Amino acid sequence: MRSSIVNMSSVLPTIERLSSRVIRILGLNPGPFTLQGTNTYLVGTGRRRILIDTGEGREGYPALVKEVLQQQDCNIEHVLVTHWHGDHVGGIRDVCELQTDDTVSLFKFPRLSTRDETIGVNISYSFLNKEEEVFETEGATLRALYTPGHTDDHMAIILEEENALFSGDCILGEGTAVFEDLYDYMKSLQRLSALNPTKIYPGHGPVVENAKEVMEGYIAHRNQREKQILDVLESGEQSGYSAMDLVKVIYKDTPEHLHVAAASNVAHHLQKLCKENRICRSDVGERWTVSKL
Ligand SMILES: [Zn+2]
Repeated sequence: MRSSIVNMSSVLPTIERLSSRVIRILGLNPGPFTLQGTNTYLVGTGRRRILIDTGEGREGYPALVKEVLQQQDCNIEHVLVTHWHGDHVGGIRDVCELQTDDTVSLFKFPRLSTRDETIGVNISYSFLNKEEEVFETEGATLRALYTPGHTDDHMAIILEEENALFSGDCILGEGTAVFEDLYDYMKSLQRLSALNPTKIYPGHGPVVENAKEVMEGYIAHRNQREKQILDVLESGEQSGYSAMDLVKVIYKDTPEHLHVAAASNVAHHLQKLCKENRICRSDVGERWTVSKL
């Protein structure tokens, strides 16, 4: 999912070959939060390939997958699920039903918040541990990276042959991503940026060719906002600031009806700064001050 309404500036074909080993199949679920829908990727060159994500379960998606499998004369050996959101897991059942001969294994990182993740009768996940696990298929080697932040179970995947990154919803083809935990999210972004991928195959939107620049842009955007927050807190003009107090200073040029959304964003920053022991709660309620070292 993404954060705001977009113009559909990039019209993607429903099926597109992106490289000798990557074919993108759209989930057919366009919407304000999903750009042109969820991207799913069939990876490999042989008879048994790996599918990354499965869309939302929209009618028409299974037929697209079937068309590609027939045309490529292959089937799906594994499905790698980037995270639990419905627009990434909703098509799992359909994909499993497409297989006639072999069963599909489904892999993802476990959620921290819920123990029991079931997708349906006779379908279950194999959970990855947080070490980097490698999946090999003819023509492609995929390394699964635990990258929490957008969700607590988020997986990004490196395609070693291209040094390309399947970023799930950690980085999007357009706009900025949303997150559950900014502290984790920033750490994941920094880790992915350090890998210096040549390009990004995102969970939504077009392929990102200027990967480094985009990732640094994401990081700089958040750092800039964080600095604004710290500057206000350090000014000490009040004994403590709530998220909304900060919004009134930092977002003073933003229309007031957007302030509640802005406050939720600022609250994420405050939680992150608190985790880093850079700020702490003041004596009065949900207000924050800089930590005294
Ligand atoms: Zn998501």
